[in-house]
Amino acid sequence: MGGATGASRLQSRADSIPDELRPEALALSIDLCERSADPDQQDWLGSYSRSAQLIELYLKVIHEYCVENSVNFQRQIEITYLHELGHHLGLGEQALLDRGL
Ligand SMILES: [Zn+2]
Repeated sequence: MGGATGASRLQSRADSIPDELRPEALALSIDLCERSADPDQQDWLGSYSRSAQLIELYLKVIHEYCVENSVNFQRQIEITYLHELGHHLGLGEQALLDRGL
């Protein structure tokens, strides 16, 4: 799904990223997938790999989550992206939750 065009649009749309973090964000690759390939991560909305410098967004899972919770699909994609970017910047789950991510 998606591919590079969708991913770069996503990066440029993430307006809530402070300017000083933008180079960090743009250095990461983004893969848009239906769902994680890992059997233990089938309900994950996204993931971040430090070794690969890669964020994966699982669009099918995000869509299911949005339908179940009456959440805006585009907005949730951005939130998931920012959540994974937060991991890249060293934030843990609780710190991200505290920021609404
Ligand atoms: Zn997380």
